[in-house]
Amino acid sequence: MLMRIILIEDEKQLARIVKKGLEEASYSVDVAYNGEEGLYMAEHFPADVIILDIMLPVIDGLSLLSIIRKKGVKTPVILLTAKDTISDKIKGLDTGADDYLTKPFEFNELLARIRSLLRRKGDIKEAVIRIGDMEINTASREVKRAGRAIPLSTKEYTILEYLSYKKNTVVTRTDLTEHIYDESFDTDSNIIDVYINYLRNKIDSGFKNKLIHTIRGAGYILKEP
Ligand code: CA
Repeated sequence: MLMRIILIEDEKQLARIVKKGLEEASYSVDVAYNGEEGLYMAEHFPADVIILDIMLPVIDGLSLLSIIRKKGVKTPVILLTAKDTISDKIKGLDTGADDYLTKPFEFNELLARIRSLLRRKGDIKEAVIRIGDMEINTASREVKRAGRAIPLSTKEYTILEYLSYKKNTVVTRTDLTEHIYDESFDTDSNIIDVYINYLRNKIDSGFKNKLIHTIRGAGYILKEP
C-alpha cells in the first residue's frame, strides 16, 4: 500500500532531496517548511510517518511533537537534528518521537528507519503477498507470476501493491489516484486506466486466469482466480 509521509524541514535543499528520494522509493510526500505549516499538516493530513526536523522556524520540532501527541496524533515520528547530544535524544524520545536521526544522515538509513517504523506499526504484515500464482515481495518490490519475474515501473508496482492489499475488493479510480499521487494531482486524468492497461499486459497477458478485472462504472478488482 502506498505510504504517505509528511516531511517537516525548513532547509529547502535538503527537503527537496529527501522528498525526491522518498518519492523514488514510492512514498507519497507532503512537505512543510516551518513548524506552523507542519503542525497543520500533522494534525489534518493522513500520514503513516512524520519526518520532523527539530530546529524549525515559527514552532520548533519538539514543541510541535508535544502538541500533536497531546492532541492524540499517534503517527510515528522520526526526528531529524543536527544535535546529537544524549540529552536531546532523551528529550525527543520522551516527547513522543519514535526514532531519531542525526544530520548528516545516509538516505538509505532514513529509508531503513521508515520501513522499521512501518513494520512496528503493523501496516506491513507480511513481506510476500500471494494472489493465485502471483507473488509480490513488498520488501524487495519484486513481482513474480508462475515463478517468472515481472519487471514493473514504480507507479505500476504501487498500483499493483495497493490492489493486492485490497484484494477481492473493488477499488475505485479515485481511491487509486488518492493513494498514488499527492493532492496536487489532476484526478480527472485517465492516467490510472493507462497504468492498469500496462499492468494487465505484464501480469495477465498470456495467462488463462486473469487477476485484474474491470468492474464497469466502479473501478478495478484484483481477484484470486
Ligand atoms: Ca532546520
